[in-house]
Amino acid sequence: MESYNSFAVAQQQVTDAARLLNLDEATVEFLRWPQRECSFTLHVKMDSGKTKIFHAYRVLHNHARGPAKGGIRFHPDETIDTIRALASWMTWKTAVTDLPLGGAKGGIRCDPKTMSERELETLSREYVRALAELIGVDRDIPAPDVYTNPQTMAWMMDEYETITRRHHPGVMTDKPQQVGGTEGRRDATARGGVIAVREACRMYGFDPTRDYAIQGFGNAGQRAALLHQEILGGGRLVAVSDSRGAMWSAAGLDPKELVMHKLKTGSILNFPGSTPIPRDSLLGLDVEVLYPAALENSITKENAEAVKAKVICELANGPTTPEADIILHKKGVHVIPDILASAGGVTVSYFEMVQDSYSFFWDETLVHERLDARIERAYRTIQEAVKEKKVHPRLAAMVVAVARVAQASKLRGWV
Ligand code: NAD
Repeated sequence: MESYNSFAVAQQQVTDAARLLNLDEATVEFLRWPQRECSFTLHVKMDSGKTKIFHAYRVLHNHARGPAKGGIRFHPDETIDTIRALASWMTWKTAVTDLPLGGAKGGIRCDPKTMSERELETLSREYVRALAELIGVDRDIPAPDVYTNPQTMAWMMDEYETITRRHHPGVMTDKPQQVGGTEGRRDATARGGVIAVREACRMYGFDPTRDYAIQGFGNAGQRAALLHQEILGGGRLVAVSDSRGAMWSAAGLDPKELVMHKLKTGSILNFPGSTPIPRDSLLGLDVEVLYPAALENSITKENAEAVKAKVICELANGPTTPEADIILHKKGVHVIPDILASAGGVTVSYFEMVQDSYSFFWDETLVHERLDARIERAYRTIQEAVKEKKVHPRLAAMVVAVARVAQASKLRGWV
């Protein structure tokens, strides 16, 4: 198995795009690195009565186009480099969808599955106390990511408002609607990805009614399972996986039933009417669309050759390694790159910030329409860059995004 430093991958992507744009050396170096990074420790009194120290991070990659935006992960394998990479991808994600925002990311190295609700609340509040000076609606706006959720955001927003003695609901996004959240955020990431698949089908003739498979059955994966059929008007979900294994059925898995099963049992395993298969064999199934919706570096040079999907919609951040990317490109797989495929979440988060700023909320139809329009436009812009530069979609998306951030940085006189 390849061992990848995601940040090195993210930096290489910048260098490759910058070369096509003929950017000068200083601009390239500036865009390869975060503008600011914080690495700190948090101390939490655990239920056992003992104090535990957690390592935490917040990286602001770039804010040339607006305040920085990006989620917070709770994960045992978190490192400064995974956060740097994710922060960098947020910069490109907000730029490719043309949002007036920059990119950031945060994380705490912890295992939330082994922590009580009280411990998680304390950890979330400690994180905000450590960062209160550096975040804010006009500075850096966190959101949930892997193993964090709207409840985490409600705690964090409350802590921030307690410290600042003001209401600032827009300081965190993906909050529960009762405390300033928006309609349409829960399924926004998956919705954006499926809209991009719809555009690929329209433009290149892929068949949305054929089979699809989903790696990772969390937030993004579950919603994609449901929305694929709703938005594309058909398709059979033949396999899903989560960290514990994969389940397959030639006749198709009912997405709604499967979501209920996962909710009830905590896993997709033993879903009635399906057969277990080796977890990663899901990646090699003969499907029209494959949605990687787990973690980074899932599609590697070891398994890319086996991929039979015609379209890969990268709901996860950085699921494909650079070598795998080349293999997929040579095989003619249409990759919808993560910075577009998973941009629905940040797009609706931006809508949430806008609504919070004037305390007036849109209905779900309006959120969906505005998301749809933005993803469709971004997909088309990337395809134009594919044709113009004669490069694969990931590089084309990076060229569009890097050009926009480089221009903003230059206009500000930073480079
Ligand atoms: P989540 O924690 O809700 O779900 C992750 C899922 O992946 C879980 O079901 C877990 O069991 C599964 N998983 C972990 N390792 C796996 C493996 N090796 N094989 C198969 N499954 C595995 O997280 P999420 O919010 O759905 O995020 C998933 C991905 O999408 C991440 O890369 C995240 O950064 C990205 N993303 C999420 C959002 C969002 O709004 N939720 C937005 C943009 C990008």
